[in-house]
Amino acid sequence: MPDAANAAVAVPSADARPNWRAVLAPYTQPDMGRSLLDLATSVLPYLVLTIGMYFLLGVSHLLVLALAVPAAGCLLRTFIVFHDCTHGSFMPSKRANAWVGRMVGLLVFSPFQSWRHEHAVHHATSGDLDRRGVGDLPTMTVAEYNAAGRWARLGYRLFRNPVVMFLTIGPIFSLVIMPRLINVRTARPRNRNSVLMTNAALVVLVGSLCLLLGWQSFLLVQGPAVMMAGGIGVWLFYVQHQFEDAYWESSDGWDYADAALRGSSYLKLPKVLQFFTGNIGLHHVHHLSSRIPNYNLQRAHDDNPVFHDVPVLTLSDGLRATRLKLFCEQRGRLVTFAEARAAAPSPVAAVSAPARASSS
Ligand SMILES: [Zn+2]
Repeated sequence: MPDAANAAVAVPSADARPNWRAVLAPYTQPDMGRSLLDLATSVLPYLVLTIGMYFLLGVSHLLVLALAVPAAGCLLRTFIVFHDCTHGSFMPSKRANAWVGRMVGLLVFSPFQSWRHEHAVHHATSGDLDRRGVGDLPTMTVAEYNAAGRWARLGYRLFRNPVVMFLTIGPIFSLVIMPRLINVRTARPRNRNSVLMTNAALVVLVGSLCLLLGWQSFLLVQGPAVMMAGGIGVWLFYVQHQFEDAYWESSDGWDYADAALRGSSYLKLPKVLQFFTGNIGLHHVHHLSSRIPNYNLQRAHDDNPVFHDVPVLTLSDGLRATRLKLFCEQRGRLVTFAEARAAAPSPVAAVSAPARASSS
């Protein structure tokens, strides 16, 4: 990934950057008309396609499967609307963001309040080696992997397998199972209630559809679209922070702007894919200022030089990045299992966590 490698050197230090908060403030204003257009090109076509697919079940299952492709694209866009609402960037008021977020959350099976909380932790800790574990993809260092037991290593290998992560268990777990779970004893009441209320609403919604149309019809219509959208969604989340030269730093040296501009990729997708992924490829802009609605991200990127030297990934770079598995503290970058083996640190030397080569 030469672009990413060069960019890691070219991005100016935090002190040298202009006052980006003031510079980006104008882009953070939601435009009601533009937000309604987003809803009309995400939620609305998803619902229309879904209803159409139910009617077509008696005509052709192949046709239903074909329509699942655009339906998955619209479901991805719907998720971006949900994501914007959790950042309070989609509608002009906090109340409106919460209500749109809760409603749209039912379509993407996600509880608004608890997802917002976990995602806020992700934004505040992305790339922080000492604060991994909430709202991120589990990532081991080479030292941790070498020190782990056989079953932990096997589990990690399975989890990091692209077939598991993107094509089978990953989408089901991240979209259908994980958002249902909450520790009722330790969770904050607002987060706990959000999960329980969303679960109850989904039981009523999904249960009614299954009673009305049959569970087989429900699975035939929703299953393929959810699997496709979920798989692409997990891959997007992966590639936004898991690329070769992605910024990783321990807590004492971690910097918010560095994590945004060097730890979040600019995934440059063909325009049609950029549309269906709701501009989320401009992830560096989103992480620097999460109050920018998705439809302003490209303009914010184009207008401001602070974004012009960030790590750029193409679609094929993004696919290749799925080979990266571990963070190598000596090299200061993510590596494949083979690269980690080739470095062959003795377990004792690895566990003693040697000084990390700076990634800047
Ligand atoms: Zn976000």
